[in-house]
Amino acid sequence: MILAGFQKNSFIDFPGKISCVLFLTGCNFFCPYCHNAALANGEYPQRIDIETVLDFLKARRGMLEGVAISGGEPTLSPAIADLCRSIKALGYPLKLDTNGSRPDILGRLLDQRLVDFVAMDVKAPLDRYTPFCDQTDIADRIRESIHRLMTVAPAYEFRTTCAAPFINTTTIVPMARAIQGADRYVLQPFNRRSVCLDPAFNGKTDPTLFPEAMRQLRDLAAPFVRSCTIR
Ligand code: SF4
Repeated sequence: MILAGFQKNSFIDFPGKISCVLFLTGCNFFCPYCHNAALANGEYPQRIDIETVLDFLKARRGMLEGVAISGGEPTLSPAIADLCRSIKALGYPLKLDTNGSRPDILGRLLDQRLVDFVAMDVKAPLDRYTPFCDQTDIADRIRESIHRLMTVAPAYEFRTTCAAPFINTTTIVPMARAIQGADRYVLQPFNRRSVCLDPAFNGKTDPTLFPEAMRQLRDLAAPFVRSCTIR
């Protein structure tokens, strides 16, 4: 298996742990603000053999506290379960990032206890995913993934990239309601960078939500979940 990226150390990708991050390529979404355009397009910014990474992980046992798998959308990889199994066999807690579009794969990984923490995006109210993907049954898929996380996952968080015009004081309420009772909901402000998956997105009126707007969103979402924070 070839990875499209490998970050040896991260303090932010696995809550509470010093982790490394493995990036898989390819995505079934086309979020206009995506900062990982190359990965979303299925390209390989790097080409790293998984055996090299497993050797690194063997050597770092006792120093690294966890491994995060990100993308792209990692559940699209036919080798995702084998990858998780290889990492778990080395004794590492594993965190998976997902857009929630493949509840069947997510469910299998959880049932087989191959992941310890899942971070799942909630992009918009479930009936408003059109700017992000073209799957007609996406609302049902997202709903099912939410249910699996809240009933089976050892630990999880839902997270939303807050960018105008998608996220505002009207849309945040049904989004929070969709994850009602969740342990943890994290709101991340969109930060304009040089490259987005949709180049036109950068040319739009600034989609960044500033601190006061972020606090308003948090206050509206907080009553629906156990913890709602701005990251
Ligand atoms: S931000 Fe959207 S397009 Fe980019 S990798 Fe995540 S789900 Fe895919």
